[in-house]
Amino acid sequence: MHALFELIHYAIRERLIDTIDYDYVFNRLLHLLDLDIVYQPYEATYKTDKTVDEILKPLLDHAVDKGKIDPDTVQMRDLFESEIMNVFTPNPSMLQQQFDTLKKQSIIAATDDFYRRSKKSNYIKMARIGKNHFYKVPSKYGEIEITINRSKPEKDPKDIAKKPVDTAYPQCLLCKENVGYYGHAAHPGRTNHRIIKISLNDEPFYFQFSPYVYYNEHAIVLHEDHIPMDVGKHTFYRLFDFVDQFPHYFLGSNAGLPIVGGSILSHEHYQGGRARFPIDEAAGFYTTRMNGITYELLNWPLSVIKMRSENRERLINAAEALRQYFSTYADESIDLLHETDQPHNAITPILRRTGSSYQLLIALRNNRTDESYPDGIFHPHPSRHHIKKENIGLIEVMGLAILPGRLHDAFTDIETILKEESESFENMEDYQPWLDELKAKMPVDDVRGLIERSAGEIFIRGLEDCGIFKQTDAHRRKFKQFLEGFLAWHLKY
Ligand SMILES: [Zn+2]
Repeated sequence: MHALFELIHYAIRERLIDTIDYDYVFNRLLHLLDLDIVYQPYEATYKTDKTVDEILKPLLDHAVDKGKIDPDTVQMRDLFESEIMNVFTPNPSMLQQQFDTLKKQSIIAATDDFYRRSKKSNYIKMARIGKNHFYKVPSKYGEIEITINRSKPEKDPKDIAKKPVDTAYPQCLLCKENVGYYGHAAHPGRTNHRIIKISLNDEPFYFQFSPYVYYNEHAIVLHEDHIPMDVGKHTFYRLFDFVDQFPHYFLGSNAGLPIVGGSILSHEHYQGGRARFPIDEAAGFYTTRMNGITYELLNWPLSVIKMRSENRERLINAAEALRQYFSTYADESIDLLHETDQPHNAITPILRRTGSSYQLLIALRNNRTDESYPDGIFHPHPSRHHIKKENIGLIEVMGLAILPGRLHDAFTDIETILKEESESFENMEDYQPWLDELKAKMPVDDVRGLIERSAGEIFIRGLEDCGIFKQTDAHRRKFKQFLEGFLAWHLKY
């Protein structure tokens, strides 16, 4: 059977389309791919073990031959693939209708269906995500999870050469105008990308899945307008509205300041999903209750206050009060200055529901830099940069490391050196001090395990660098004083 028919049979089997669509999608794809093949009718009994990527490959090769993919790079193939798979993807209005109809049954049915579609249409490339390397590292904070991210395609020099003049459209990767956008050498293909309109705090937002899923049902919630990240009381109303509508999901916001914020500060957005994280198992070292809210200081590398209550309004008021209290909080003895010529204190809030109760995590953040730490005092210090130098966003605050793909090859090279199968490799300068440390621990039976564990431990030290109050007795006392100071202040208002 020709790959085109295999693809249509796949789409019917995976419930992307109905048999009634068969002739229509055949004709659409015949033209799109400029194919000259004989029509074959639908075969209800047809079976194949091929994956969608295996079916798509000869079709994409054909498109390369026809000059429809040029240059022949992973990026340009992805753009065309997205155009092919769009044929099996409902128009935004139809998908919205399906989502809203399913939501009347149950919100879980609605998100399940949207997630299934996002995966089966290869908008989320599960085979590529499967190449990510995942492992766990035990620590005094519990098991920390590590992902080495190999699913984002590397930049190809041919793509960079082909990069068109920046048209500033869509304004960023999050903007709603990405829906159906073909993309180009410097912008991912979004022809089969879909978003669902929702309302949070009576404001227009959209719900979508991340194409790079770092955890189960990794979702992004974006504002209708391209407006900058801004964390305030409205943030809490939006987060609470979301978990009320999607009680099986958590939702969190990155801090609205550079260094301690996410990678896109120019567009108001949140990240959520149907997943639990190491921080959800973290124990507290101090607990107190006030006004129907339980406050717990966590045994965690960053400074995190867990607030729990069944009373939504009280929790929102207390969270906003805490945000304001921290925004002017300073303690020079621990290098915490809330402002210089600009504000430095911010929070990372993460909300989930547990039954009738809400659980809100507030991580305290500060983005000040100084001469010793030009990348940030409360940011992974330079000695951790061979493992992690990017911003620590909310996913990592929760104990899931997203480490750069370059580490995959670095681990392999280091393993070879430690086993004395080779002396050195190119581009190892950044890893040299670490390599020397690892050599001192040799011989061990499980060399790979040693490398992975060590990388995980360095990541955890990087998280500790981000902690405002460190996990020492003296700092824990300060953290407790901070909370008590806040509660006394909050009581007066
Ligand atoms: Zn935008």
